[in-house]
Amino acid sequence: MSNEIQEDEFNIHWIRDVVDEVLARDVDEYVLSTGKSPSGSIHIGFVRELITSNVIKRELKDLGKKARSLFVVDDYDPVRAFPPSVSLSLDEWVGIPYCDVPDEFGCCDSFGSHWANELIETFPDFGLDPEIVWTSKLYQTPEMRDAVRICLKETETLREIMIKYVASDFNDAQRTKYIKAMEDWYPASILCPECGKFQAGAKGSIKPNRVTGYDIETDHVSFKCPGCGHEASVPLDKVKVKLTWRIDWPTKWYVLNVTCEPAGKDHSVKGGSYDTGLEVSRRVFDWAGPVKVPYEWVMIGGRDMGTSTGIVFSPKVWTEIAPPELYRFLMLKTDLQRTINIQPERVPDLVDQYDRFERVYYEVEETTSDEKELAKLLYPLSESNPVRNEYLPKLPFKFAVTISQLEEVIGTEPVIAKSIEVMHKQYDIESVSDDILAHIRKRLDRALKWVTNFGSKREKIAVPVEVPESIISTITDDDRKFLTLLLKTLRKSSLEDEELQTEIFESAREVGIKTKRAFTVLYRILISSKSGPRIGPFLNMLGTDWVAKRIESVL
Ligand SMILES: [Zn+2]
Ligand SMILES: [Zn+2]
Repeated sequence: MSNEIQEDEFNIHWIRDVVDEVLARDVDEYVLSTGKSPSGSIHIGFVRELITSNVIKRELKDLGKKARSLFVVDDYDPVRAFPPSVSLSLDEWVGIPYCDVPDEFGCCDSFGSHWANELIETFPDFGLDPEIVWTSKLYQTPEMRDAVRICLKETETLREIMIKYVASDFNDAQRTKYIKAMEDWYPASILCPECGKFQAGAKGSIKPNRVTGYDIETDHVSFKCPGCGHEASVPLDKVKVKLTWRIDWPTKWYVLNVTCEPAGKDHSVKGGSYDTGLEVSRRVFDWAGPVKVPYEWVMIGGRDMGTSTGIVFSPKVWTEIAPPELYRFLMLKTDLQRTINIQPERVPDLVDQYDRFERVYYEVEETTSDEKELAKLLYPLSESNPVRNEYLPKLPFKFAVTISQLEEVIGTEPVIAKSIEVMHKQYDIESVSDDILAHIRKRLDRALKWVTNFGSKREKIAVPVEVPESIISTITDDDRKFLTLLLKTLRKSSLEDEELQTEIFESAREVGIKTKRAFTVLYRILISSKSGPRIGPFLNMLGTDWVAKRIESVL
């Protein structure tokens, strides 16, 4: 994907199309669902699903409809594997539901709630407010229990549906084998009361503790645990039970009365678990099931959303380096069917683009009528909070990147003062409100975190406390003449960035050293480097007094 807004073909119509499709259901209350298994740190790509559901809800409410959104945490799923960062023993915990695995960090009720909470804590930043549904708790409700009972009674129909979808692309031999295996298949597994596992074996060799028989008359289920060998026949009400994934999903839709659920391409491919679920909805629960809204992956720096490999770019990481509104904007402006690839290195450009888009919305930036129209629609949906009546000026992110790195050298107050000065030059600010100050602080923090983690060598600046001896020893007599002359200029009066830039050229010419040499000398004294940010603005950021003292220290 190109991140250039101007080049991008805006596909905002997808929101309108999806909302129309959902509206066609004509229900009293629209329920927008999303769901995720908390198997580890959740990748920011999943937030595309949450944002999609959130904007559908916002649009429905704008139309005066009743609408709710849900985030279903699948913490009743059994452990199949652990991400590399987890220190718990897989042998010990495999097959046990995430809600029963301890939180190795000790801050939450369980492993499942820890990773779900890491995501949930970022919801206010991203403007998300779904009701949280914990699958482990949902399964203990009478409504879910009744729905499980319906599934067990309809086992024969579910076998047919499973064969139709799962075996659709099998060859004859595989198909025969699968049909044979389905003869005594039941749609549910039992949490073994002896060993606490839903299944034995890890990824690749999983043996579920599947129901082996169901007696409709007595409502008894039988099972034999493949982990510890415990076997029993007990009333359905007396055991903990969980449906097979492809059956579990439509059963939750039915119990939660879901009108629409967006789903990633892994689940929403033709004949995949979404389609299986829709047929289960029609044939077993006798209703249409939700409106299927498929969406493509989000890649960060070319890496996909996989949660099982390596470091995960979580929503929390995003909020530390960039505004969450920018992420919403990037999701909304792109058609759901297109993969979004975000390069973290390009965050400053992306922030600039969103800042500009915001100015278009507030009509403080001239543009085409098409873009104005688009901003009216897209900007309020991109914002995490209700849109302000008046434009709040923004500190240019690229300026923040440089000056935030100087805070330790020149102090917080000068950094804030210079930030305000920059904003004054760009906008008509009557007074510096608390909101502006809060914005500046946040932007400086994000810029510093961004440059530390993703900035290039050229963007990173380190100012040593003193000029190192190794650098002082390289300063020539001509260099000293140039520095002495520049020092006089600095002491005389405060100069604008460009005037300062010109003065450096002039001083170099007067002394007779090459301008390139003059710049090199300055960068070496300031940041022990041959090059750096544009010198005029940079000297002003440091402050002429500070620079003058620095020059004196080497003369
Ligand atoms: Zn925790
Ligand atoms: Zn067992």
